[in-house]
Amino acid sequence: MGRLTFWGACGTVTGSLYLLESGGKRILIDCGVYQGLEAQKLNQTFPFDPADIHYVILTHAHLDHSGRLLELVRDGFRGEILATQATLELLEIILEDRLHLEPHLGPRELAQRVLNLCWPFEYDQIFDMPGQIHFRLRDAGHILGSAHLELWCEGKKFVFSGDIGRQGTPIIKDPDPPQEADYLIMESTYGGRRHPPFSLAKKQLKLIIEQARRDKARVFFPSFAIGRTQELIYFLNELIEAQELAPLPVVVDSPMALKVTRVYARHTELYDEEALEKLARGDQIFSFPLLFSAASIEASRRIEELTPPYVVIAGSGMVTGGRIVDHLKRHLNEPRTYVVFVGYQAAGTPGREILKRRPKVKLDHQLVENRARIFKIEAFSAHADHHELLAWLGRFQKVPHQIFLTHGEDPARKALKEAIKEHFPTRVQTPRLGESLSF
Ligand SMILES: [Zn+2]
Repeated sequence: MGRLTFWGACGTVTGSLYLLESGGKRILIDCGVYQGLEAQKLNQTFPFDPADIHYVILTHAHLDHSGRLLELVRDGFRGEILATQATLELLEIILEDRLHLEPHLGPRELAQRVLNLCWPFEYDQIFDMPGQIHFRLRDAGHILGSAHLELWCEGKKFVFSGDIGRQGTPIIKDPDPPQEADYLIMESTYGGRRHPPFSLAKKQLKLIIEQARRDKARVFFPSFAIGRTQELIYFLNELIEAQELAPLPVVVDSPMALKVTRVYARHTELYDEEALEKLARGDQIFSFPLLFSAASIEASRRIEELTPPYVVIAGSGMVTGGRIVDHLKRHLNEPRTYVVFVGYQAAGTPGREILKRRPKVKLDHQLVENRARIFKIEAFSAHADHHELLAWLGRFQKVPHQIFLTHGEDPARKALKEAIKEHFPTRVQTPRLGESLSF
């Protein structure tokens, strides 16, 4: 008998955490932090003893899938952490950043203690664990190194989708879905919603920046350091080098994003054909005239000396912390400020409040008037939308026996559940926190 328990991302898009118990082994799939409402409380303790866990398999490096490894190791986990090489390189950056932002979690060395337990693992290789458990990772096309997990135990096959990427995402390859599963644990972030195609992101980016130039505006992109920032740079590089956009100062104001971009630049073996062709032609895909980076605080402060128009790309993506908060504290009350959202804004985050155009927004314990022009480029999502999720599922040769929808707010889960039931003859469930499946 085995058991799978849903310990996170049930009705939310953060806090991914699943516990699989089989043959005396206890395996966590992802170990992510909650963000947004009640996050601190939810992140505080685990519903199991971390010392009893043997393995953690990470689908990808995003904080909401990996960040709680710090608490896990702090609270006694001594097992092994398995993930792709790119995921582990990104993980180091993620964990160091989290410790920097939340020093109460532990000393800086805690990140190193996590990394000492990590083992890299390539796509498509089978890994045999004790207890007759095997697993394999496949490219999920979401961010660099992201994976779908296939796991076999007790004669059953599980697939954990992780976050499902989109066809046509720049730089990285498209998702490579598995062919069959008895149990599929599937994300549903954008159930019931549709994204414009990724190519539209570039067009909108161009229009917004042209308008900002006319308005002499400061343009702020609250951006996730991983994936989104590199995509922004990649598109700006394309626009500027094709002379579709005249150069203007673009500052990547995030030491973390700069480190991540170096990881992206290193792993060309994970690129799609388009990016590889650019490289072959000698194009530096993360570099263009007037692109600056602000690694130090001093460099960040000097952005204030620039004469608008200019562009700042800074974290965090949901304005919950990081340098974007300082920029918006100073400039959110100005009508010639543009805030351009390029990623998901979870309920309860300042990003969501700004996006909803609340007249006043709390930033770092301070109420700031919101007079900025607010934009959202929907096409930038790194997550499959409703139709792309169904298309991803449609690529299975055999319909999974049972599907569990996680990693989505309840309306999204419900919409996807109904659509799956309409198109595929299978059972679909939307598990609550702490629910489990015996197999
Ligand atoms: Zn993700």
